[in-house]
Amino acid sequence: MERITDFKVIVVGSGPAGCTAAIYLSRANLTPLVLEGLQPGGQLTITTEVENYPGFPEGILGPKLMDVMRQQAERFGSRFRMEEVVSVDLRRHPFILTTDQHEYECYALIIAAGASAMQLGLPSEKELQGFGVSYCATCDGFFFKEKEIVVVGGGDSAMEESTFLTKFAKKVTVIHRRSELRASKIMQERAQKNPKISFLLDSAVEEVVGTKDGGVSALKIRNLKTNQLTEMKAQGLFVAIGHTPNTKPYMGQLELDERGYIVLPHPHSTMTNIQGVFACGDAVDHIYRQAVTAAGSGCMAALDCERWLTHERITERWDLPTGEEERV
Ligand code: NAP
Repeated sequence: MERITDFKVIVVGSGPAGCTAAIYLSRANLTPLVLEGLQPGGQLTITTEVENYPGFPEGILGPKLMDVMRQQAERFGSRFRMEEVVSVDLRRHPFILTTDQHEYECYALIIAAGASAMQLGLPSEKELQGFGVSYCATCDGFFFKEKEIVVVGGGDSAMEESTFLTKFAKKVTVIHRRSELRASKIMQERAQKNPKISFLLDSAVEEVVGTKDGGVSALKIRNLKTNQLTEMKAQGLFVAIGHTPNTKPYMGQLELDERGYIVLPHPHSTMTNIQGVFACGDAVDHIYRQAVTAAGSGCMAALDCERWLTHERITERWDLPTGEEERV
């Protein structure tokens, strides 16, 4: 596999955190390479209207927001490649990143790889993904007009998704595995007051019934207290049980917490436990998970990275052009 060397900084991920880091890095003449991953633009590309990103009083479509962020980064010299990082070697410096297509060497690394929606892990769920099983109400709710839908989960996401889905659906049933919801009081109350939403607690979906041609037709549901298995008519299943960080390639090399989120051990810094490796966005943050907080942390990572490269006198080595940059 071809190894491309001498990158100053590589940014992994192209959501709000990665794009903002790229904007700041390129404006500091660090000409970053952004490895976009398999979902360029990140999770915002599978949402519709974004109404809480400052600067857009009328709202902006998620894909459009990511498109303009990318253009802004490219304007200052950032380069983007649609490649997925599969493994890394951070024990040596320069670091090595292996993607599905190349090996890259870089002096500093910013991980902004984001997070992905968690799945229930049922074979039938996997089989019917995109055929009635969804992980994003804002993306797919429109397709379920006047249908009966189930939302799985008991957190804020499940409350938000089920409330949103009542715009389209005839009926929404929230299925949660415990007798108490995890969601904040205000989100619970909003969902509970909605006449289209009902709750089935202490229960778990055990099988999604349906076909790719006909979509979802029913769900097999286990009552976890009585162990009774029943079948419920439903044409859609929305899974809203949280997210998992996209940090698999870094396992065993970077310090991760028990849920796989990257640990930032230094106060007021986005530097990881490895010097020269920085992390930002949803790969670090399971609490706020907002586009604007991700963008803010991307800016912080770029500033930390730039200062580290200067402090370590690595920047001084780049007085002569390497020629490698033209190859990308
Ligand atoms: P979460 O708070 O981690 O809740 C996940 C829910 O899914 C929990 O109720 C959990 O059950 C359930 N669950 C997890 N794995 C499951 C499985 N395998 N099978 C069945 N159920 C499962 O995740 P979230 O709702 O995505 O929220 C994440 C963070 O984002 C939170 O801090 C939340 O406040 C925030 N958020 C805020 C807003 C808002 O303010 N507008 C909207 C969305 C999210 P247990 O309760 O039994 O663990």
